Amino acid sequence: MIKIEKFVFNPFQLNAYLLYDETGECILVDPAVSDEKEMQQLEAFISTNKLTPKLIVNTHSHIDHLLGNKTVAERYNLQLAAHPGGQMFIDKAPKSADKFGLPFSGIKKIDIPLQEGKTLDFGSSSLKIFDTPGHADGSICLYAEEDGFVVVGDVLFYQSIGRTDFETGDYDLLQKSIWEKLFVLPDETVVYPGHGRSTTIGTEKESNPFVAIGMV
Ligand SMILES: [Zn+2]
Ligand SMILES: [Zn+2]
Repeated sequence: MIKIEKFVFNPFQLNAYLLYDETGECILVDPAVSDEKEMQQLEAFISTNKLTPKLIVNTHSHIDHLLGNKTVAERYNLQLAAHPGGQMFIDKAPKSADKFGLPFSGIKKIDIPLQEGKTLDFGSSSLKIFDTPGHADGSICLYAEEDGFVVVGDVLFYQSIGRTDFETGDYDLLQKSIWEKLFVLPDETVVYPGHGRSTTIGTEKESNPFVAIGMV
């Protein structure tokens, strides 16, 4: 069974998730630490629970999600798994960090390209990958079918959806991703977004004001 721990990091109030199971292996989803204090917070949880980090995964490559990749990768000697569709954002990361005045430890290249159809395995657990563009090219969702949750990055939020005014943003494509990849999951599926509180597929399907009714 996968357990999930949330951390809120950096000035963008980014939700970083640590996923672990009974084997003690864990993966770090968007571990975007921006300073030593945040890094220590992450390290404390890992050491207290005697976990072994196996991999860094990015839901997409916007600066608020990849900020800590290099620091965390070097600390635990980890590879990065991400969708290659977001390579452009990785290339621009130093500039983006500069623009927002964020401390940036440097680019970490993608070691393991992810895309729909592949699974992400750690410990005795397996996550399905969905391609969900619309907020940004290279956006993926991680679905834990047996455990009934999905990590969605900035695709879907509690009563909101991802912005589409950034580069490669596309409103129609985002709606399509939400309807075809997320809203087909069971209503009780817990949604862990990149910012803000968690929700469920059923709640968002019923009352999210930004989801176009009738699109399928
Ligand atoms: Zn984003
Ligand atoms: Zn974000």
